[in-house]
Amino acid sequence: MDNKNKKIVTAEDLLLRIEVLEKRLEKLDPKSKNSLPGKSLQIADIKQNLLQWSEKFPGVNVKEELEKMLDWLSANNKRKKDYKAFFRNWLRKASTGLNKNASLEEKIKYIFGCPESNCQTIESPYKDMYYFCSTCKKQKIVLDKNR
Ligand SMILES: [Zn+2]
Repeated sequence: MDNKNKKIVTAEDLLLRIEVLEKRLEKLDPKSKNSLPGKSLQIADIKQNLLQWSEKFPGVNVKEELEKMLDWLSANNKRKKDYKAFFRNWLRKASTGLNKNASLEEKIKYIFGCPESNCQTIESPYKDMYYFCSTCKKQKIVLDKNR
């Protein structure tokens, strides 16, 4: 269990670093973002190039992931400037098994915490989890449910 967790943290770290680098690139070249076409054109472009996307992410069903991403965007009412960049990130996460947004059961998140203090909260897709707070010496309880 411990080893598994360590691996996940490392992969997440890498993804975070990539995102930071991409944001830096964005800052260096902000013009290209502002001249991006609207959502439907960008999505159409992705759909036309699914073959290339699947070559870049060979272990991933890119068509299915695109559907999942579009579902997730509309379910969460999210708009993006650059859908290609978002899709690239989405596929990266899918290829490493880190895509927490993708599966249906994980859409509901239970937030565990300490009701009497501002301790760190933990999110879980499952409500029957046991989290012990070492500060309060108490079990954390479900404070909220996110959809
Ligand atoms: Zn606590």
